[in-house]
Amino acid sequence: MTSVLGLACRECGRSYPAEALHVCDFCFGPLEVVYDYEAIKSKISRESIENGPLSIWRYHELLPAHETSSVDLGAGFTPLVRADRLAAELGLGELWLKDDTRNPTGSFKDRVVSVALAKARELGFKVASCASTGNLANSVAAHAARAGMSAYVFIPSDLEHVKIAMTAVFDLKLVAVEGNYDDVNRLCSEIASEHPDWAFVNVNVRPYYSEGSKTLAFEVAEQLGWKAPDHVVVPIGSGSQLTKIHKGFQELEKVGLIEDGHHVRISGAQAEGCSPVTTAFRNGADQIRPVRPHTIAKSLAIGNPADGWYALQVVRSTNGGMGSVTDPEIVEAIQLLARTEGIFAETAGGVTVATLAALAREGVITKDECVVAYITGNGLKTVEALGDTVAPSTVIPPTLAAFAEFERTQEGATS
Ligand SMILES: *Cc1c(COP(=O)(O)O)cnc(C)c1O
Ligand SMILES: [Zn+2]
Repeated sequence: MTSVLGLACRECGRSYPAEALHVCDFCFGPLEVVYDYEAIKSKISRESIENGPLSIWRYHELLPAHETSSVDLGAGFTPLVRADRLAAELGLGELWLKDDTRNPTGSFKDRVVSVALAKARELGFKVASCASTGNLANSVAAHAARAGMSAYVFIPSDLEHVKIAMTAVFDLKLVAVEGNYDDVNRLCSEIASEHPDWAFVNVNVRPYYSEGSKTLAFEVAEQLGWKAPDHVVVPIGSGSQLTKIHKGFQELEKVGLIEDGHHVRISGAQAEGCSPVTTAFRNGADQIRPVRPHTIAKSLAIGNPADGWYALQVVRSTNGGMGSVTDPEIVEAIQLLARTEGIFAETAGGVTVATLAALAREGVITKDECVVAYITGNGLKTVEALGDTVAPSTVIPPTLAAFAEFERTQEGATS
C-alpha cells in the first residue's frame, strides 16, 4: 500500500483522485500528490531505508507508486562527493557535488521517469510519451523499453547529436519538431488531448513524474548522515526539480527522518540565453515573462517554464539566490569541474557550477555553509558544446624525436 491520499490543486486546494490528471477543473492550477504523513511516519525509519535497494526505490514510502510496479533501470543513489579542490578555487568551505551524471541514461531525468512510468503502468497505460529538451527523451525511451511499453517521443529538431542517438537506439517513434522546446510542448498538449490513452510523462502524469525529483533531497540528507545541508544550488529548466527538492527536505522533517527546523537555502541556476526566472528574481517581479531561448544549455532551454513561478517562490522564501551565466562561462565551468574534481558534466552542470562560482563571488553563498551543487547530466551528451577546446595537446609522428621536441615546447608551460 502507498500512503497517497490523492491529488490536490496547488492553487485552490481542491482534491482529486490519484489518476492521470494534472490540472484543476476549477482554476486550472497544477495538481500535486498528497500523502498521509502520519501513516508514512509509522512505517518508515532510517534503518528500513538503509536496508532498501540502492536506487530511488529505497524511498518508495515517499513516492506515489508501488515499489512492485517500479520501472527500474537503477536510477538514483548516485554518489555525493566532497569537492575540496573546487571549494578552494571558489573560496568556499564544505562543498559537495551530487553526481547525477551517473544515472542509467546519464541524467537526473531517470529519477522522474522511473516514477512516472511506474505510475503509468499502475494506471494501465501501454504507451509512454513526452515532450523533451533531450534528456527526458533518452530516459523515456530506455524506461519504456524496460517496461515493454511503446513510446512516442517529441524533441526539437536541433538537439545534440548524442541525445538523438541515445533516444533513437531504443525502438520507438521519435518525432523531431521544427521549433524550440516551447513549440514542442505546446504541440504535445494538443496531442495529449487527442490521445488520452498515452501516458505523457510531463503532461497528464506530470504530478507523479515530478515527485521523482524529491529523491535528490532524500539521498543528499541520507548521504550527509541524515541531516540537511545549509544551501543547495539547482539548475532550472521547467523549475520542477527545484521545487521538488524543497518539498523533499520538508517531507523528511515531517516524517521525522531529519531534525525539525533546519533551514535549507535553495538557489537557482539558469543560462543567460534562457533566464526568465532569474530575470523575475532580479526585478522583484511577480510574474515570469516568457523568453525565446538561445543557449548551448539545451537541456535547460525552456522559455516558458511550467513551474517557474513556484521555483521563484521557493528561492525567495528560503533566502536563496539566482544566477544566469553566459555560454563561454558554461564551457569554462565544465572544464573547471573536470579539472578540479574529475567529473565530466553536460552543459546544465556547467550552468550550475558557473552559478555556484558567481554566488560565491557575490557573497550569497558563504564559507561557513554546507553547500550541495546538483550536477544533473553527463558531459558525453553535449560534447559539441566544448567545440575546439577539447583536442589533443599535439599530433606527432610515432618517433621519440618528435615526442622529445613536444616535451621541449612544454617546459615552463603551466598546463
Ligand atoms: C531537465 C533538466 C534539468 C531541469 O529540470 P527541470 O525540472 O525542468 O527544472 C536540469 N538538468 C538536466 C541535465 C536536465 O535534463
Ligand atoms: Zn484549483
